[in-house]
Amino acid sequence: MHDVVVIGGGAAGLSAALVLGRARRSVLVVDAGEPRNQPAAHMHGFLSRDGMPPGELLAVGRAEVAGYGGEIRSGRAVSARRNGTGFVVELADGNEVSARRLVVTTGLRDELPPIEGLRERWGRDVAACPYCHGWEVRDQPIGVLGTDPRGAHLALLIRQWSADVTYFGSQLAEQDRAKLLARGVRIVDEDVVKVLADNDELIGVELTDGSCVKRSALFVPTVFSANDTLLTQLGAEHTEDGRTTVPGVYAAGNVVDPMAQVIIAAAQGAKVGMNVNSDLVLDEAAPERRVHGL
Ligand SMILES: Cc1cc2nc3c(=O)[nH]c(=O)nc-3n(C[C@H](O)[C@H](O)[C@H](O)COP(=O)(O)OP(=O)(O)OC[C@H]3O[C@@H](n4cnc5c(N)ncnc54)[C@H](O)[C@@H]3O)c2cc1C
Repeated sequence: MHDVVVIGGGAAGLSAALVLGRARRSVLVVDAGEPRNQPAAHMHGFLSRDGMPPGELLAVGRAEVAGYGGEIRSGRAVSARRNGTGFVVELADGNEVSARRLVVTTGLRDELPPIEGLRERWGRDVAACPYCHGWEVRDQPIGVLGTDPRGAHLALLIRQWSADVTYFGSQLAEQDRAKLLARGVRIVDEDVVKVLADNDELIGVELTDGSCVKRSALFVPTVFSANDTLLTQLGAEHTEDGRTTVPGVYAAGNVVDPMAQVIIAAAQGAKVGMNVNSDLVLDEAAPERRVHGL
């Protein structure tokens, strides 16, 4: 039995594992290897790592965890259950792993609106986060898809990076219209039906009325779909500092905080690592003590 099993080896999970390994805890990280920012060539806004390919950050992180004895296993967890004061996690290959504490750092999936050609450009010239991609497309002709009400705010933000921003959407609220106009955002009251690319580059969008508008980058408000099956199975709801309503179960990063960028997810993971170790220390300091609530 490990002290801790971490499900999800992105920035949050590896950061938790690093802190726990350095605290001389036996840690197993199980990772399905599909981090959210995988489609992007570069990661931005992480102090001292700005511009690093996302996969490189994780490769360095894995090596650091392994350097302190942490074990990293490729695989997917499909279920988790309590076993006495610990937890058993079942993997997709049929194996089971057990640990005294469980850290869930499984991230989220960005659901894109069903617009032809959009998915193919995702993470390249179609993005959601201006702080991740805004600088790279500064001063370019940018489109923002009003596929849900958050699109208006996204367009206001994007205007910070370019004077040539067009909002596309047929469902714009009047108060949002006024704000966009005040900020100099052009409004097109048609929905985008197709994303146009040529020579592996975005060139524009096709609208419901059949017209086309040239754009070289698009921003879209995605729907966040948390990879929270394990938490749901255990009835664990996130409370604060990575703790959940189920004693012994912790969570960090995008699975519980969709707005967390890489540096924030990593920080949350580090905090969880310290809280888990503290929890284990208290457990060991009082042998009669069991996980609160059992
Ligand atoms: C296109 C794009 C570009 C981005 N660019 C930036 C950027 O430039 N800068 C920035 O700060 N942020 C960026 N982000 C946000 C960034 O992706 C997240 O902040 C970060 O990935 C969150 O880390 P995490 O550890 O919570 O989740 P993730 O990095 O998504 O890691 C979760 C891991 O858990 C694994 N997993 C999921 N379910 C299971 C399971 N059941 N069993 C085992 N493993 C599982 C996944 O495969 C994955 O490896 C970008 C996001 C996108 C979509």
